[in-house]
Amino acid sequence: GPIILWFTRDLRLRDHPALQAAARNGPVIPLFILQDQDTVRWPLGGASKWWLARSLRSLARDLKEKGSRLILRRGDPAAILAALAQETGAAAVYWSRAYEPDLIRAQEDARGALEKAGIAVKRFGGRILFEPETISTQEGSPYKVFTPFYKALLARGDPSEPLSALDTLPAPVAWPESDTLESWALEPTKPDWAGGLRATWTPGEAGARDRLAWFLDEAAADYDEMRDRPDIDGTSRMSPHLTWGEISPRQIWHGAKPHAEGSAQKGIESFLSEVVWREFSYHLLFHWPALPDTSWREEFREFPWDENEQALRAWQCGRTGYPIVDAAMRQLYEIGWMHNRCRMITASFLIKDLLIPWQRGEEWFWDTLVDADLASNSAGWQWAAGSGADAAPYFRIFNPVKQAERFDPEGAYVREYVPELAGMPAKHIHAPWEAPSKILRDAGVHLGETYPEPIVDHGKARKRALAAFQQIKRGN
Ligand code: FAD
Repeated sequence: GPIILWFTRDLRLRDHPALQAAARNGPVIPLFILQDQDTVRWPLGGASKWWLARSLRSLARDLKEKGSRLILRRGDPAAILAALAQETGAAAVYWSRAYEPDLIRAQEDARGALEKAGIAVKRFGGRILFEPETISTQEGSPYKVFTPFYKALLARGDPSEPLSALDTLPAPVAWPESDTLESWALEPTKPDWAGGLRATWTPGEAGARDRLAWFLDEAAADYDEMRDRPDIDGTSRMSPHLTWGEISPRQIWHGAKPHAEGSAQKGIESFLSEVVWREFSYHLLFHWPALPDTSWREEFREFPWDENEQALRAWQCGRTGYPIVDAAMRQLYEIGWMHNRCRMITASFLIKDLLIPWQRGEEWFWDTLVDADLASNSAGWQWAAGSGADAAPYFRIFNPVKQAERFDPEGAYVREYVPELAGMPAKHIHAPWEAPSKILRDAGVHLGETYPEPIVDHGKARKRALAAFQQIKRGN
């Protein structure tokens, strides 16, 4: 009988171990299941749904070119797989191993249901470089700190080479029924907020390959120097492609390695070390499945937060009065992505200047990022909060103005996303409340009218945050 290939966050045809094994062993029925969103802890956010719709469309096109199809079903994966296997007389179900608690549970339930029905299950790797069981300390426990993890990973040598491309995919004699993608209504209609996403991204395997090629040719050599500049398009923007598995980390690794020569060596190494941060986050999430929900450091569970809805709203909408924070939050909303430096600045601002629990920020990012990734997002937020395994110390509080002056020196990033400040000279754009009134007038800026006054005073907010931190330290 045929083999059902259950796609999850591995929406590609190349370098796909489960798919390639299935293609060798029989006719293949490619299947994607949209899990019932009310049965999972982390239902897909709006931006993720948009990306998923586009990525599935691209995958379906690619499958068609290989003489195959993509079957879509919605509901409980265990029930769907068991029924589909029976309907098609499938001999086995193959999938790529997941690391997110919701998906792990779904895969385990499916395994139970299938094996009970006498259908074989095979699980493959492919979403990360090394399985979490294979990188551990001398005592055999998982790494909690990045640097030793990174060294241990490098000591294993390069990950294996990507698999060679498939020619065709053997099709079953008859195709089972499929939902239409439209019936899932993943893309927004009224209001249609996705214009900026459509203008920015090309979801799907080909889009991932093209962008990686562009990055390696044009930007990777200077990555180590430019990666902190949000005003420059100097990073790979592989994150949403990686999140949905349109490209494998191993393809990125082996694609980038040959470029690591001469003056480009530092850039490529620095880029690959970031890919290892992703890897580290996945291993952390696998070993601590509560990572998205609970502060890893216990003392932070007692933190005296200030749940201020109005301040949260101002942060979400990019109306805090701090131009770099507002530019970043609007970039996030417009294109579903935010530069890493700005993720750190906006997270620090939410957690430390506003004293809002990191989970509120994590939820907003989850809803609005096209690269929303349970591992990297929760690790990133816990890092910023100082509550994570390997985290920035809590008392290191980003000064949003100094960060902006350093990393957006001409103010170009702020001008792009906060057009009401476009007329401000570089010298004053990052702290308009300190600008002489003539400068503001000439730029057409009226604080409190055309652009908000700062919602907090950073100096005071910083002291308040440090005092709050003293409380949990004492409590400890
Ligand atoms: P590049 O600089 O080109 O890096 C290459 C790849 O390495 C990225 O695509 C990504 O897969 C990985 N990577 C880079 N930096 C990190 C990092 N700090 N942690 C983990 N992986 C990294 N990344 C996500 O993919 N999804 C998220 O939901 C996410 N949420 C974050 C939340 C916060 C608060 C912070 C501080 C960081 C978060 N990151 C997240 C990590 C990082 O900001 C993004 O991966 C990066 O900005 C994506 O842009 P890029 O692809 O151009 O990255």
